[in-house]
Amino acid sequence: MTAAYVALGTNLGDRLLNLAEARRQLRLLGALTEGLVFETRALRMPGDTAPQPDYLNTVDRLETGLGPLALLRQLQRIEALMGRRRTYRWGPRVIDLDLILHGAQTMRSAALTLPHPRAHQRDFVRWPLRFFGVELPGA
Ligand code: ATP
Ligand code: CA
Ligand code: CA
Repeated sequence: MTAAYVALGTNLGDRLLNLAEARRQLRLLGALTEGLVFETRALRMPGDTAPQPDYLNTVDRLETGLGPLALLRQLQRIEALMGRRRTYRWGPRVIDLDLILHGAQTMRSAALTLPHPRAHQRDFVRWPLRFFGVELPGA
C-alpha cells in the first residue's frame, strides 16, 4: 500500500456535490482521508480574459494498492464519468483530478510526471498538503 495525494478541483455546476461525488469514487480505490477545501480564483493562461467561476480545491490522501499509472487511469475514468469536457487549457471543469504524489515515486513522461510538475507553485495544493505534514520539493 502506498500513500498517494490527489488534488481535486471543480468550478462548474454544484461544486460541493462534485467534490462529494469524486470522493465517493475515490473511496472505491483505497482508504481516503479528506483534505481541507479552499475557494480560489481560476488559474488562467496568460492573455486569457474570459471570466471563470471560482474553484473549490483540495488535496485528499489515498492509501492504495494501485500503482501510479493505474491510479492515473482511474482518476481519468472518474473525470470522464462525471462528464468532464476538455475545452481549452485551464478552462472551466466539473472535476479535475491530478496525481500530486505517489509515495516517493518520481517519473517524467507526458502521460505522468511525479511529483506533479506545477503543484509546488500552487498554494491551493500546498496548503492542504501541509495539513498532512507533506512539503513538496521545490516549493
Ligand atoms: P495542470 O496539469 O497544469 O494542472 P490540467 O490539470 O488542466 O493542467 P489536464 O488537461 O487535466 O491538465 O491534463 C493534461 C495531461 O497531463 C493528462 O493527459 C495527463 O496524462 C498528464 N499528466 C502528467 N502528469 C500528471 C499528473 N501528475 N497528474 C495528472 N495528469 C498528469
Ligand atoms: Ca490540474
Ligand atoms: Ca488534470
